[in-house]
Amino acid sequence: MIYDLIIIGGGPAGTAATVYAARKQLKALLITETFGGQSIVSDGIENWIGDIKIPGIELAKKFETHARAYAGEFVTIVTGKRVEKVAKKDAHFVVTTSKDSYEAKAVLVATGSNRRKIEAVNADKFEHKGLTYCASCDGPLFRDQDVVVLGGGNSAFESAAQLLAYAKSVTLMHRRDEFRADPVTVEALQKQPHFKILTNVEVTEVHGDFMVNGLTYKNNKTGDTVKMPVGGIFVEIGAVPAIGFVKDLVAVNEHGTIVIDPWSQKTSVEGIWAAGDCTNILYHQNNIAAGDAVRALEDIYVWLKTK
Ligand code: NAP
Repeated sequence: MIYDLIIIGGGPAGTAATVYAARKQLKALLITETFGGQSIVSDGIENWIGDIKIPGIELAKKFETHARAYAGEFVTIVTGKRVEKVAKKDAHFVVTTSKDSYEAKAVLVATGSNRRKIEAVNADKFEHKGLTYCASCDGPLFRDQDVVVLGGGNSAFESAAQLLAYAKSVTLMHRRDEFRADPVTVEALQKQPHFKILTNVEVTEVHGDFMVNGLTYKNNKTGDTVKMPVGGIFVEIGAVPAIGFVKDLVAVNEHGTIVIDPWSQKTSVEGIWAAGDCTNILYHQNNIAAGDAVRALEDIYVWLKTK
């Protein structure tokens, strides 16, 4: 069987695409390991439109319920499988998982990205127990606490700016003394009274009992180590797009994200679209990912019906 469309990924982009594919009565297949995407680990998402606050696990359940409610006879949902390769075969695409393969006229890649993690001792133990990755999701949980942001890019500085609204103090720690963040962003933050920057430092250990209560960092130039009490650690050291299975087929930029036409979500290969955090759009958010996938679906539908 050749599907009209194979959607890869079950986060906000993949789920939105699935609902729209069903309503457009496309013969579609969704392949995802699980539903929910990166936010599944969040204690409470406060910016998903329509829900004042929702735990990531609940949002994932809602995604799955919504997708299955409309899948009907048109959309097949396959979970528990990871896509390993997308290849062109004549006028179609072959999507191969670890267990089997499927064919389709069109493919939507919506596999998001995985946050880059720090390698400090105990970092994995305190993940989502005070060591977190989303200031806009988790910032309010750290009200009146001293928090640290790791990284020297725009995301780190923008996260620090968001955290200043809640935290008692925000310390940004960066491994070098030059920042990737835009100078104007850095300068604006440096004027804030409760904000501090430590450069040439690297976190070597995270401390805590049930939750994070401190960290040890090393000065990369002198080798000195310092133990410091903190209530929260926000890791903003970039992300690794989850697109290994298609990176040799479509154009990818220097950050490893899929280059799309933002007008239509088309990739460099006719018949393949991409949406959400795996693409080279400027902002990465759940709401944006869902909207981008809807844009892709509209374009895919027109393409399929006029081809
Ligand atoms: P980024 O620009 O790649 O910056 C990542 C930062 O993390 C860098 O300072 C890097 O240090 C540091 N880092 C990387 N690996 C590390 C490690 N293992 N340990 C410690 N530090 C590490 O990532 P981003 O800030 O997430 O931004 C991603 C893209 O989105 C960028 O193009 C950014 O400009 C863009 N963005 C734009 C906006 C905006 O324009 N409003 C907002 C957010 C993001 P080094 O510098 O030493 O490599």
